[in-house]
Amino acid sequence: NKTSSSNFIKSIVEADLKAGKVSEIVTRFPPEPNGYLHIGHAKSICLNFELADEYKGKTNLRFDDTNPVKEDTEYVEAIQEDVRWLGFEWDELRFASDYFEEMYERAVLLIKKGKAFVCDLTAEQIREMRGSLTEPGKNSPFRDRSVEENLDLFARMRAGEFKDGEKVLRAKIDMGSPNINLRDPVIYRISHSHHHRTGDAWCIYPMYDYAHPLGDAIEGVTHSICTLEFEDHRPLYDWVIAECEMEATPHQYEFARLNVTNTIMSKRYLKSLVDEGVVDAWDDPRMPTISGLRRKGFTPEAMRAFCREIGVARAYSVVDERMLEHFIREDLKLKALRTMAVIEPLKVVITNYPEGQVEMLEAENNAENEEMGTRQIPFSREIYIERDDFMENPVAKYFRLFPGNEVRLKHAYFITCQEVIKDAEGNVVELRCTYDPETKSGSGFTGRKVKGTIHWVEASQAVPAQFRLFEPLLVDGDDDDRPFLERINPDSLEVREGFVEPNMKEAQGQDKFQFFRHGYFNVDPKLTGADKVVFNRIVSLKSSFDP
Ligand code: ATP
Ligand code: MG
Ligand code: MG
Repeated sequence: NKTSSSNFIKSIVEADLKAGKVSEIVTRFPPEPNGYLHIGHAKSICLNFELADEYKGKTNLRFDDTNPVKEDTEYVEAIQEDVRWLGFEWDELRFASDYFEEMYERAVLLIKKGKAFVCDLTAEQIREMRGSLTEPGKNSPFRDRSVEENLDLFARMRAGEFKDGEKVLRAKIDMGSPNINLRDPVIYRISHSHHHRTGDAWCIYPMYDYAHPLGDAIEGVTHSICTLEFEDHRPLYDWVIAECEMEATPHQYEFARLNVTNTIMSKRYLKSLVDEGVVDAWDDPRMPTISGLRRKGFTPEAMRAFCREIGVARAYSVVDERMLEHFIREDLKLKALRTMAVIEPLKVVITNYPEGQVEMLEAENNAENEEMGTRQIPFSREIYIERDDFMENPVAKYFRLFPGNEVRLKHAYFITCQEVIKDAEGNVVELRCTYDPETKSGSGFTGRKVKGTIHWVEASQAVPAQFRLFEPLLVDGDDDDRPFLERINPDSLEVREGFVEPNMKEAQGQDKFQFFRHGYFNVDPKLTGADKVVFNRIVSLKSSFDP
């Protein structure tokens, strides 16, 4: 079921279609290519694409590339990959820079209409003269330049006659407006910088508030959906469309951005984690980026289900990070092969099992989904178990292995711990156990019961594997106001070396498994090589949260 539940934007779209205000809806997703997309962007992507899908409209992917210094083609490519991976295909791929010439011409039109002027004030002077919420702004001394002089200066700005910051083009609106965004906002600035698409063709660049409505109008966008911080910009959005005499009249609608507990999502912050080497790349599995979540093992289905569940509202809210985990568990529950992995191995020798013998045991692939069938796993005299599944001096209610105790080996036999082998320092290095052939799994044995069941991997055929376990990147809560680089959790990554079942030899990047008792894991596509399989833990098994 692809359609999401009702929301206020859908109501608007339905009303507009019904009233004949629009014949077809057109939305866009407009990222700035200055970083990789994060889970917050996923919400915006789902919203825009699913809305158009549901009402048989169109969605463009438009790069908002008006700030050349921070932008890069690496980001342009990564963003496209992420949108596609989420399961969406855009109608048209556009760039704000495709429209630079038209935007320039519309600015000339504004000048001719007396609606824009070239201003020589510095950025700081402009900020000072803008006033505040309680105090009106002051007119620029350059506000009354003639149309001829403005046309000449603007052409010379374009021609490269002035240095960065020497002049700007400002819309002439109202320095007394209660809305600060309407106090003669800057619409063009000078920046002698190389643009990743237009190269050195331009040294003036349009500002977001000017470029965005024009881009929407040029593309025939009907519903321009953005986050709430742009609410106060809407009058300027409408002003630009009207004064530039655009044929199409898109409308802007705002919704509350996604916030997730313990997760900082701004691209600026995520970029500094990469630049400072806190994480190894934008797609580090600890990152809240779409590429990081993908590499960790999240699926597009889980992410879309999450976005649908959180819904679209205008009220500020923070979503519990565990909710995302809930959806990946739900998605993988019936799909993932359930197998055994030993993350911290302890060798067990089964002394009464014939030396040199290997038998094959049948194991179901998914206890909740019979259709996934069964597999054969080897069993022999030497196996690995989890170090945690043995205690020399058991605490109360410890039902796993300890001297003299009997447990069930999943899919195999009951074993009893007979002897503990230690090294010179007193560390346990091996257990000697005996097994009872009558207790074979599936044999219907009912002679006695044991309280503990543990997992294991046969030693001679075990495949060495690395397990990467993650904790949050930041310590402390959301209200901790220390700079984030001081809040980095030094233990956010734990690397363990252990073993998996022999059939894991064929595991490929992005394959997902449930390891009995450990949780869901994804094969890391970057770190897995011919000699070693590397697994990222997506999420543990226990669900502490249900929406
Ligand atoms: P950041 O602050 O992380 O840099 P941004 O808003 O500057 O994000 P853009 O590339 O401008 O990033 O965003 C593209 C689209 O994604 C915009 O429409 C923006 O409103 C939306 N978006 C960004 N962050 C969120 C979020 N947390 N929740 C929902 N939508 C978001
Ligand atoms: Mg931005
Ligand atoms: Mg933005």
